[in-house]
Parts: sequence; structure tokens; C-alpha cells
Amino acid sequence: MRALSILLSPVAGGTALHPIDEEMNRRTFFKTGALGGFGLIAAQSDALSSLDVSTNPFTLGVASGDPTPGGVVLWTRLAPDPLAGGGMPPLPILVRWRVAEDHELQHVVQQGMAVAWPSLAHSVHVEVEGLAADRWYFYQFTVGDAESPVGRTRTLPPFGAHVDRLRFAFVSCQDWQNGLYPAYRNLAQEDLDLVVHLGDYIYEYASDPTAVRQHNGAEARTLQGYRNRYALYKTDPHLQAAHLACPWLVVPDDHEVENNYANFISEDNDDPGAFLLRRAAAYRAYYEHMPLRARSFPVGASMWLYRGLDFGDLASFSALDTRQYRTDQPCGDGPRLPCAAEFDPAQTMTGPEQEAWLLSRLNRSRSRWNVVAQQTMFASFDFLSGPNAVFLMDQWDGYVAARQRITSFIALRQPSNPVVITGDIHSSWVHDLKASFLNPASPTVGTEFVGPSISSDFPPVLIPLTEAALPANPHTIFFDGLYHGYVRCTLTPEQWIADYRVVPTILDAQAEAFTLRSFVVRDGEPGAILA
Ligand code: FE
Ligand code: CA
Repeated sequence: MRALSILLSPVAGGTALHPIDEEMNRRTFFKTGALGGFGLIAAQSDALSSLDVSTNPFTLGVASGDPTPGGVVLWTRLAPDPLAGGGMPPLPILVRWRVAEDHELQHVVQQGMAVAWPSLAHSVHVEVEGLAADRWYFYQFTVGDAESPVGRTRTLPPFGAHVDRLRFAFVSCQDWQNGLYPAYRNLAQEDLDLVVHLGDYIYEYASDPTAVRQHNGAEARTLQGYRNRYALYKTDPHLQAAHLACPWLVVPDDHEVENNYANFISEDNDDPGAFLLRRAAAYRAYYEHMPLRARSFPVGASMWLYRGLDFGDLASFSALDTRQYRTDQPCGDGPRLPCAAEFDPAQTMTGPEQEAWLLSRLNRSRSRWNVVAQQTMFASFDFLSGPNAVFLMDQWDGYVAARQRITSFIALRQPSNPVVITGDIHSSWVHDLKASFLNPASPTVGTEFVGPSISSDFPPVLIPLTEAALPANPHTIFFDGLYHGYVRCTLTPEQWIADYRVVPTILDAQAEAFTLRSFVVRDGEPGAILA
């Protein structure tokens, strides 16, 4: 494994400093640098004066995420020329941030300075602490005379505190080339406490000249390629508006690196060493563009992404990473007849540590709703209506024993109201989660909501096939493969309402969302019913 351990070291060619190292560098710079402490500010002014000051450095908007009862992460990236590496001089830049109680920023409660480092593409991650719990705040970044838009964010209720209501939406799969983002324009106007992004925030694919709108450049493979790709996506005004509205909890899926990758195994079986270098570049760009804590700063090709978020006593979110530690898709990653390898207990989506972490969280939870936020479809689905069966091996159907360990645990320990929320498949589904999908008569132990994509397509030819297979999958109570949008969830101690909010077209950014279907899960009654 020597080759691999070499490749798990920081990105080749980059100055891959851990934030703590960079903090040390900053201190050294302040103490011993030729410019001294105030010199950095001077350097910043010089740097900015060498920019065209009429150029807005906040082209990628702002974002907040990973809230706690006392704080939240505030994010921005300085990029006056976003599609060409950012357009910043190769110097650290001081950025001022403010957090206020009001949108006009009259009542500032905290402020400070952060350094936008060139080695992190001039991104800024401020971990604000010491805020009041369960409160809305407004924030802004400034650099020189330039001001960012004012974002709105909130802290979580105190740990374990009684909470009457939570409204969040979950989203996934926003292929730029396939359509515009009217879904985000609508989502930004919802009254939400949180947005959960379940992955495919970008697609790595090369520019397609026939597409609705084009990717910038070749397939993303390098740090520069991934950075420019995130920058392209983040120039979308509706995506920016959705980030402005509330904090997000983000986890990537496969396309943030490469379609269907599994740990160090690429789709086309590239050399694992070369692929891990690519993964390191992709993870780093993901960190640079998301409101993540320093704990998620990637070290080489490794990144801490699975994590919990507890909304008082009402909802406990466990966000999973089902790519970084998974074993390869058995028998190929497309649709397949059942094969012995999918039942292999060594097959894993999460890796053993993450699986133990998830089961331990479910076991300890005192929350009314236990949300497992993850990427690929958890429920089994046989895509053939006849006597033969066809499963998608990139989903949990390729990892049957691992799924069984989770459903058996839920059946045995009975955590309160388990609900899985899912992206990846570019279509809308609702499933009853069975104690064993191998036994249709086994009890329903939970619920799964699979959300539609923001803009990526479900293959139209598969829609009638899937519909024809629904009777063979009695635990599946809803499927739609046509519409794009998001799922808006309203949770109270008594019930969970899931509204499938969809848009009639993704060719018109102004399209109005409507509710395609609504489902209810009642407290203590696993499985959803049509509202
Ligand atoms: Fe996708
Ligand atoms: Ca995916």
C-alpha cells in the first residue's frame, strides 16, 4: 500500500497547508514579516489598488452552513474573474466580516477580520461562535470598498430544547448543462430554516456545445479545473439567492469528483494513485466552495464529511458520505441482474467507522425525527416487472448486507421515526423502509423520501419501464421521473409533511413552482401516506 500512502499526502504542486499551518504562517507573517501586522492591511490595500477596483470580488455570492446552537460558518470567495482562476493577485487579502441582528446591519453583534489565502483560492471560512441559540442573523463581508450581498442565517436551538417546528428543504443534482435553476429561485422564497444538499453540486463533464448552457472547458480533473467549475455554478443568481436565505448542510456525491467513483476506484478503472490525486484536487475545491468547518479541510485525498446536526429535540440529522469509503459497485455499476457479490457482507457504502457512528447516533438519539441524509436510493427497487429482476448496483441494492445491518438495527432498537432523505437518481420517490427488503411481509420500520433533481435528467426512456415495475415493488408508494425541484419538509412533534415542489420547465428561470404531491408521516407510524 506504499503507493497509496504517498498519494494520500497533500495535493502535488499546490501549497496544501492545513488551516492551522496557515494560521501559524499568518502569525509568523505578523510577527516577522517585513510588513508587520499593519503591513498586511497595507499589502491588502496595495493588492486591491492593483485590481480594477470597479470589479466586484463577490461574484460567487456568500453562504453559511453547519450551524450549531452558538455559531455558524460564513463563507465567501474573492473572485473578480471567476471563470479564469478567480483573478486575484497571489497575495493574502484581509476580509472584514460582520454579523448583525438586522438586515441593515445596524445592530452588529460580532465582527472581525479573516484572511483570504491564495492557496485556498481566496476563499474565506469564518467559524462564528458565541451567538445566541435559535436566532436569525444577517452577515456581510467587505474588502476595501467592496461589499458582499447580505446573507441571512440562523443558529440551532439549544441541544435537546423543545422545538415545535422545523422547515427545511433538500436538494441534489444540478447539472448546469441540462437546465436553468428556477427551482432555486422558488426555494429562496420559501420560509426555510435549513437547506440540505445531498450532492452533485457540480458535474465534472466537459463542455457540451449542444447543451442548454455550457460547462467551461474540458472535464474537470485538476484543482484549477474543479475551481473554475465551482465558480461557474456559483455565478448562478438563483443558486446564490438560495444560499443567501438560510444555512445549508452539504454533503457531496459522485460528480463532485467523477461519475460513480467508489473510494479510490474510478469509473473507468484509472490507476488508483492517479485517481486519488484527482480526488484530492476535487475534495479541496469542494472545501474551498462550501461553508464547511476547518475539521472538513481535506488532508490529501481524505476529507471529513459525515456529521450530525441536531435541531433541538425535534430532528436529528445524520449526514452520510457514501463515496469516500465505499467498496466498488458489485458486478459493474449499471443496471444488473442480481449477483452473489451484492450480498457480500464486506460490501460497504459507509465503511465500518461511519456505519458504527450512524448506528450509535440512532441508538443515543432523543429526537422525535431521526433523519439520515444521504446520496443514493436506500430502498430496494426491482426495475423489471417480469419474473427476472434488475437492480441498480450504484445504489444500496449493490450493498444488501450493509443495508440489512441498518434496517435490522432499526427494527431492533426502534429509534424514533427514522426517515431517509436521498438524491442522486434525478427523480421523485417515496418508499416504506422494510425490516428486510428480501421479505415483503416484514414490518415497515421507516420512511424514505427521494427528492427530484434541481436540473439533471432521469432518462425519459426509463420512465415507462419504472412505472411498469411499480406493482413488483409494493413498498414504493410514489414515483415521478419527469419533474425537477426540491422537497420541502415541515416537521412538528406530531407529523412530517413532505411537499414535492416542482417546476413545469427548467428552460425558464422564472418558472413558478407548484406542489406535485404531498405526503405525511405521523409520529410513531413508519411509512408515508398521501396527504
Ligand atoms: Fe446527479
Ligand atoms: Ca450521483
